[in-house]
Amino acid sequence: MSSIVSTVVNRIEIQAQQKLKELLRACFVNLDEAARAPERRVAWCTSVGPCEILTALGFDVYFPENHGALLGARKLSQHLIPRAVGVGYCAESCSYMTSDIGATLAHASPLREVYGIDGPPKPDVLVYSTNQCREVQDWMSWYGRRDGAPVLGVCPPAHLGEVTRAHIEFVRGQLRHLIEELERRFGLRMDDRRLEEVVDRSSRASALWRQVLDTAQARPSPLTFFDGVIHMAPVILMRGSTAAIDYYVTLLAELEARVRDGVAAVPDERFRVYWEGMPIWPKLRELSTKFFDLATVVAASTYCNSWAFEEYDGGDPLLWMAKTSTEIFINRDEDTKEAFLEEMFRRFSIDGVIFHNARTCPNNTNSRFGMPQRIRERLGLPALVIDGDLSDARFFSAAQTLTNIEAFVEQLEEQAR
Ligand code: SF4
Repeated sequence: MSSIVSTVVNRIEIQAQQKLKELLRACFVNLDEAARAPERRVAWCTSVGPCEILTALGFDVYFPENHGALLGARKLSQHLIPRAVGVGYCAESCSYMTSDIGATLAHASPLREVYGIDGPPKPDVLVYSTNQCREVQDWMSWYGRRDGAPVLGVCPPAHLGEVTRAHIEFVRGQLRHLIEELERRFGLRMDDRRLEEVVDRSSRASALWRQVLDTAQARPSPLTFFDGVIHMAPVILMRGSTAAIDYYVTLLAELEARVRDGVAAVPDERFRVYWEGMPIWPKLRELSTKFFDLATVVAASTYCNSWAFEEYDGGDPLLWMAKTSTEIFINRDEDTKEAFLEEMFRRFSIDGVIFHNARTCPNNTNSRFGMPQRIRERLGLPALVIDGDLSDARFFSAAQTLTNIEAFVEQLEEQAR
């Protein structure tokens, strides 16, 4: 992620960023050491997967989606994806997955240059949750076959409207089974007290992260979506640690001071836009610069809010894990998603919405079934659909998209008159 930090235009530097770079380096060096130490074990986990169980059982946890994002931000994906296509993976399936598999086949990783480690740590076990998509299961399975490591997972019910007690109990049962499998395969014993502590820390980091994002309700906003995609790293990669909590305490204090002092992430902020869908990692700089030049702040996003979970208030930690991981936006039906978005537009005083139609991630794309039109008609909000991709730059036309964004902001101007 620190390479992502260096590629984004950040006109008024957030001071906590330096601390973030150090934290990430320590995190990756620690993972590298864990993979080399015979007495330690590394678990791979999907980004909204059951990492608290893994941490509580003593695994060091690595999140491969981060590597996919890094490959995209470094503009490497399009060169690596053909390697995955060569072993049978479709070029239009998840480009995090195909670029990551391609990188492994090519023995290439930006982790070498960024953190001085050889590459992703070799897994002892791979754990997924299909609460975000089934692709993660296939992704983990490729490494499971390659490394002879077990692939274990949780499959919550998908596309839910109301999340019922029965849904949550069903997922809780799968989490309990996962613990039993890990105990059996690795000769471990879960300490329930420790799991509660890890879940509590995970929840506290998540609550602080939500407060960080909520500072963007201020006008002018002290941060943008393009800052958010950088600073969300600890709430994903270090969930359950005190380091993540400490980091967000520091970041929140800085952003609250910015709000008090009227420090704007985008000076002379004129319009406030919502980003719906995945980031376009290879083009963050161009997009950030364009919005900055148009005095338009991308004030909120579904993506950054994906790790802002409801707080844990004690009790059964597996119930909290089952509930929060089943309730996430990507796992809900269209009506529930629209209701969530409407509330976000209101809370962040949004003037217009940008939908990213990510070619290789239909799962986290919400512009394909009429939602932008419904939002235009029902809420009277301008909505623009951008064609692109999260990691594969071949699916993105910079000239066309930047022109469309200019026209969109002109439309916001017209509307404001
Ligand atoms: S949600 Fe999309 S980007 Fe994330 S792993 Fe699944 S297909 Fe890939």
